Amino acid sequence: MQVVNNPLAKVNLLDFDRQGLRDFFTQIGEKPYRAEQVMKWIYHDLEDNFENMTDVGKALRAKLTEVCYIGAPKTLLDKAATDGTHKWLLGMDSGNAIETVYIPEPTRGTLCVSSQIGCALNCSFCSTGAQGFNRNLSTAEIIGQVWVAAKYLGNVTHQNRRITNVVMMGMGEPLANFDNVVRAMRLMRDDLGFGLAAKRVTLSTAGMVPLIDQLSDAIDVSLAVSLHAANDELRTELVPINKRYPIAELLAACQRWVARKPRTSITFEYTLMKGVNDQPEHARQLIKLMRKLPTCKVNLIPFNPFPGTRYERSDANDIRDFQTQLLNAGVLTMLRRTRGDDIDAACGQLAGQVTDRTRRSADLRKRQDEEALHAI
Ligand code: SAH
Repeated sequence: MQVVNNPLAKVNLLDFDRQGLRDFFTQIGEKPYRAEQVMKWIYHDLEDNFENMTDVGKALRAKLTEVCYIGAPKTLLDKAATDGTHKWLLGMDSGNAIETVYIPEPTRGTLCVSSQIGCALNCSFCSTGAQGFNRNLSTAEIIGQVWVAAKYLGNVTHQNRRITNVVMMGMGEPLANFDNVVRAMRLMRDDLGFGLAAKRVTLSTAGMVPLIDQLSDAIDVSLAVSLHAANDELRTELVPINKRYPIAELLAACQRWVARKPRTSITFEYTLMKGVNDQPEHARQLIKLMRKLPTCKVNLIPFNPFPGTRYERSDANDIRDFQTQLLNAGVLTMLRRTRGDDIDAACGQLAGQVTDRTRRSADLRKRQDEEALHAI
């Protein structure tokens, strides 16, 4: 990166992981340990003004102010739900915006982070998919979401932290933005960053098989896989990338993951949609599949509706029966409680503002118009 000779192009320090930051400091003629001092200011003290970094010499502070900056995304709007869930709408370039959600629970606080503006995968039951796709987020835009939320919440590093877990389950397919997501997750894990253990940083994927293997080489984090159906025909309808990487290949990748990281397990997300994938036969298929991954667990998510969708949430009885059937077969199965749905912050409801580069948002608007007509 050419920074020194081009004073106009200031560098955003949030784009660097620890090694990158050390290299940058070397490049501007400073000792690499200075990078670690600054890193601590950025992620432990949530400081974005070099002038306040009191243990950094005056000359270096001035130099840093000249060549770089610490730039987190701007909050356009933040909203609190009645259950304590908090959602931020963060402004990106050219009218785009993404969403980040904080979910407090008695023993932990989970931040749900976006990886792309929109999503290209077009899963039929996801509102982000229906919005279309604009672009990948930069490393700074990804780790910046954690930074903004941490600052707002008064997160304290290492003790009584408000953010104890991060899940890459917001807008976008994180593996499709591999390098930036991995770099941002390194900062989440790094002791000089947010210092979160591997089991507390989770990447969720719709099943980009080759990248699952790459991820296991690149970094230690937890993996969640959006399954939603245990037969190929139905899964392809719900998660179209299944056509390219069918269930057998996805399972094989999961088995490789578990074999390489013996102490970890994988969570399979299964969104329950009325009459679509919530019947006893579907549970039976899922049980059969889970036998191949005995240490893994299932997370059931009741479908969260959004305008223009053709799906409905499963009946409470069916959800309970589905879970019981899995539990009776010895499959560790959790039911995800719906949080923040009064502010559209629940799974699959994150839409932000996406300047669509596909035709998908037009299709969604057409469906919404038709729906409105039917309602008259
Ligand atoms: N693209 C990644 C990250 C998104 S994670 C992935 O697919 O895993 C968000 C989770 O919520 C995924 O499991 C997704 O399938 C699920 N989801 C999407 N839309 C939903 C909806 N309307 N109701 C409930 N869950 C939904």
